[in-house]
Amino acid sequence: MVEFLLLHEPVTRLSVFLAVLGLMALWEIWTPRRRIEVPRVLRWSNNLALVVVDAIALRLVFPVVAVGLAVVVQERGWGLFNLLNWPLWLEITIGVVVLDFAIYLQHVTFHHVPFLWRLHRMHHTDTEIDVTTGLRFHPLEILLSMAFKLILVVILGPAAIAVLIFEVVLNASAMFNHSNISLPKRVDAFLRLVIVTPDMHRVHHSVDPVETNSNYGFNVPWWDRLLGTYIAQPRAGHDEMDIGLHQFRTQRDLWLDRMILQPFRRDTAQNKRSKK
Ligand SMILES: [Zn+2]
Ligand SMILES: [Zn+2]
Repeated sequence: MVEFLLLHEPVTRLSVFLAVLGLMALWEIWTPRRRIEVPRVLRWSNNLALVVVDAIALRLVFPVVAVGLAVVVQERGWGLFNLLNWPLWLEITIGVVVLDFAIYLQHVTFHHVPFLWRLHRMHHTDTEIDVTTGLRFHPLEILLSMAFKLILVVILGPAAIAVLIFEVVLNASAMFNHSNISLPKRVDAFLRLVIVTPDMHRVHHSVDPVETNSNYGFNVPWWDRLLGTYIAQPRAGHDEMDIGLHQFRTQRDLWLDRMILQPFRRDTAQNKRSKK
């Protein structure tokens, strides 16, 4: 099974991606959380085109990506996990949790280091939030996070299957927690004990800077709670809150070319305000 999944890595990823994207899209239509004002076709076509650009950029820059490197690291016996002879299930569990914590720290860093914020703020300038927002990252951010992940893989030496599970789960949970679905309050409260829910992550997309700089977690909600970056609900309420940043709010800013050029555009006073 493990070998089968690793051998068919691209198909595994693509199938889960398409299945979750389709499921969340239907769920959003079935029971939407907020009214979406911007035409869906505009955001969807550009956000999904960006996913293709990101995939091409990764392919061009890195000859080997995280799962492939984990196989090499394992073969050569490098990394912490390869020194310890732990059972696979324990290695997978710890590997996934440690990688998730590392991605949390990376996300906090992208908010607080000015040149990294320029790249990451593009994720925040979507003026609506739905399943495709979870896929909307600048190609340079994607490349930097892959570089970070590759370094982690060499240091930790997690089983390749742990890295594959982590990446597939991260991709799926990003689509889930950005989705515009309405969950009953009780269900949301229960799920929040173990995973980041859409209501929890929506706070992170608020124009209010205090809320933008909270709820950094992608998979598990524990890091925000432990490290004091957790805000339970948006001050203005989920229906009334404004999504995005104070700048880049025109429909033209949602086009692919503008998204890619956005980090190189002048940092306006308004943006500085929204960052703090
Ligand atoms: Zn963020
Ligand atoms: Zn987000």
